[in-house]
Amino acid sequence: MNEEVEVLLNWYDKNKREFPWRKDKDPYHVWISEIMLQQTRIEAVIEYYKRFLKEIPSIQKLSIIEEDKLLKLWEGLGYYSRARNLKKAAKKIMEEYHGVFPEEYEDIIKLPGIGEYTAGAISSICFQKKEVCIDGNVMRVYVRLNNSNMDVQDKKEKKKVAREIKRILPKETGDFNQALMELGETICIPNGMPKCSICPLERFCEAHKKGKESSIPEKKGKKEKKEEEYTIFLIQYKNLFAIRKRDSGLLKNMWEFPNKKGILKTQEIKKIFSTQEVEKGIKNIHIFTHKKWKMNSFLIKVSKKNEEYTWVTLNDLEKGYALPTAFKPFFKYLKEKYPQ
Ligand code: SF4
Repeated sequence: MNEEVEVLLNWYDKNKREFPWRKDKDPYHVWISEIMLQQTRIEAVIEYYKRFLKEIPSIQKLSIIEEDKLLKLWEGLGYYSRARNLKKAAKKIMEEYHGVFPEEYEDIIKLPGIGEYTAGAISSICFQKKEVCIDGNVMRVYVRLNNSNMDVQDKKEKKKVAREIKRILPKETGDFNQALMELGETICIPNGMPKCSICPLERFCEAHKKGKESSIPEKKGKKEKKEEEYTIFLIQYKNLFAIRKRDSGLLKNMWEFPNKKGILKTQEIKKIFSTQEVEKGIKNIHIFTHKKWKMNSFLIKVSKKNEEYTWVTLNDLEKGYALPTAFKPFFKYLKEKYPQ
């Protein structure tokens, strides 16, 4: 085994953080945690993970879970297609693999919602297959160790790094992949100074030797997010509020307060809803990966229920309906205005 690999594995063995999904190597557990961890901070995932497994302890249960229940369990984590893909993949495992999680990378990667990184993680951690998982953390550690100015976002470069790392994989592939990721998450961190003085690979690191560790990888200019404006209608009939299910686009099948693209004026809203009881509510800005929503709300009291909407009390809304994070501040605003 190459010396750097041995040092890294020993460091991981002594320093790895304890997470509920590291208690065993059950592929169902590793799979759920890896999907939750995409785009989400570890600290935020822990409670979701525990709750999810308590409610849905097996692939079989996941394959038949009601979508509303699934989305409620995912509420707040964002990127809801992840949850839907979990269910689709569970169905496929039940139908094609008799409910047993497949072991081979080529089979795992064909499951809905699983890409190269996750397939590499599951096959190496749970089945010790000789596969790598390359994410932003691993790319950062790699370019620093090699003092390379490669573009860490470039897919071809990622493939090149995957080939290089595959050549030095030890038999403990799962631990090795996790060790590299752990190093990137805790020591060789992005933005600002990596913690080289406590890094197990300090003496092997070319960027550190040349004092270039904080300027590698080079930062590329970020794309501007597309901005969209929405008017949010908080429509109230007695103690009930109108919600509806999104039928397409971002956040499909999630519940939301009715809304319209663009920023409307009070007078326009009075006309649309045939009521004089319109008051300005709160504003919210929600940032997605590629988009920014600027949302402006109005509280609208109506004397008739429009049957096109679902009408719920605030308590029912809280307990039974998955509301995306973008709409949560409006719910909070209503809860404070109308404590029940
Ligand atoms: S020595 Fe510093 S730059 Fe090099 S791998 Fe370790 S933390 Fe990263």
